[in-house]
Amino acid sequence: MTTTLTEQILEQTNPLYIGGEFVSAGDGQVIDVINPATGRWVGCVPKGGRKEAEQAIDAAHQAFPLWAGLTPQLRADFMQAWAKKIRNNIEEIAYILTAEQGKPLYESREEAEGAAQFIEWYAEEGKRLYGETVPASATNKRIIVIRQPVGVTALITPWNYPATMVARKAAPALAAGCTLVLKPASQTPLTAVALVRLAHEAGMPAGVINLVTGTASLIGQEFMANPLIRKVSFTGSTEVGKELIRASANQVKRLSLELGGNAPFIVFPDADLDAAVAAAVGNKFENCGQMCNGINVIYVHEKIADEFSHRMSESVATLRVGHGIVEQTQLGPVIDQRSVDHIESLVQAAVAQGAQVLVGGHRMKESPYDQGSFFAPTVLVNVHDDMQLAQEEIFGPVAPIIPFQGEDEVLEKVNRTPYGLAAYLFTRDVRRVFEISERLQTGMVAVNSASLSVPQAPFGGIKQSGYGREGGHHGLEEFTNLKYISLTL
Ligand code: ADP
Repeated sequence: MTTTLTEQILEQTNPLYIGGEFVSAGDGQVIDVINPATGRWVGCVPKGGRKEAEQAIDAAHQAFPLWAGLTPQLRADFMQAWAKKIRNNIEEIAYILTAEQGKPLYESREEAEGAAQFIEWYAEEGKRLYGETVPASATNKRIIVIRQPVGVTALITPWNYPATMVARKAAPALAAGCTLVLKPASQTPLTAVALVRLAHEAGMPAGVINLVTGTASLIGQEFMANPLIRKVSFTGSTEVGKELIRASANQVKRLSLELGGNAPFIVFPDADLDAAVAAAVGNKFENCGQMCNGINVIYVHEKIADEFSHRMSESVATLRVGHGIVEQTQLGPVIDQRSVDHIESLVQAAVAQGAQVLVGGHRMKESPYDQGSFFAPTVLVNVHDDMQLAQEEIFGPVAPIIPFQGEDEVLEKVNRTPYGLAAYLFTRDVRRVFEISERLQTGMVAVNSASLSVPQAPFGGIKQSGYGREGGHHGLEEFTNLKYISLTL
């Protein structure tokens, strides 16, 4: 009898995946996964540590010569087979993703599809990993530059996008010819288990993809200490990112880091206000505000600030909060109670300093929200830049609005943050589009929209938002070494 992916994974003790085999961790300890909408147990994964990480690294090391030695076309065939499996299981993946992460089913479906798109795009891009020939300084010399896979890579992913984060890292690594060990977040490992199962079913050669779950600090230590790991790609907090930078020094290990953000959304008086409000609501409340490139503070020109706040509040008041598994839900819970506590304390501190709540502003405790971690979608005005929620990433469904008067003033305010991931700009003035985009200290700017993540563009930040890019040929190059060959004829 065949079982579905959800039957295999939900309410089960899931295995690790090492060297093409599903195995349990040595001492049988597990990490429980909890549904943030209901507080209920949805399954568990092994609590692995250094030993399991080492086994996975060894398996990836063994598989590396075979995988790196395939033609790009053959690697693409394996990757496309994996993407096809994902496409054929969108509903199952979405169900698992919503059960462990909480987001609405329609967002989970889009995410699962996004994961397939990244894998498909990189399967093809791997065929274009071109080198260069460079004019030499002597007629009997040739200079050739080639790109080679870095080797075994470690991928550490966060809980907010449990499917796309895996694909955004695994796809360029595989396309470049690297083998990998994946360590998903402990809050949401089951989507990663599902994706890895599908890779296995798609015929991915043993050891090319390995999965370890468990104690993050121990697994991280093994990644940094084991010389076989040549590169670590990490998405998560700035704090852990800095720890990894320090640990990378010993072996001069390569890193790509996508860390915290504090994205401003800036609206000028000449903007299409309907489009700006729709984009602000769409971005701010996607995934319940838990997006690294999510809007943190909305800056609106003082001429239109009241109108914008009014329209935004009207729109936010209609959002349907609920369990992600209910089809009509537009906004799910945040990831856990600790997160609700943090969001509540930020809002309360702002209100104590004079902020005014236009919508929401409180945690949700009544049924059907009483067992989960829900915070009401919130719009705040009378907010100042020095309030804590304007300074740090809120990571929740709270939209603070701050009026501004001029271009220099707003740029000075938004560039003051130590972060520099994304910024959003609404204006129809062409001069302003270029000038402000160029003066914003971020890795990405979206003009007249608020969405950025696509496979073909380089996603990533500057300053304390990290370094390295995911997406585009830049993302592929992250997993390669340049080699220059000097040839004398
Ligand atoms: P968040 O605040 O989003 O949970 P974290 O940085 O804590 O961000 O987690 C992001 C990912 O990094 C998760 O997979 C987590 O398990 C992992 N992680 C946490 N601490 C460490 C560490 N010391 N070394 C390596 N990975 C870690």
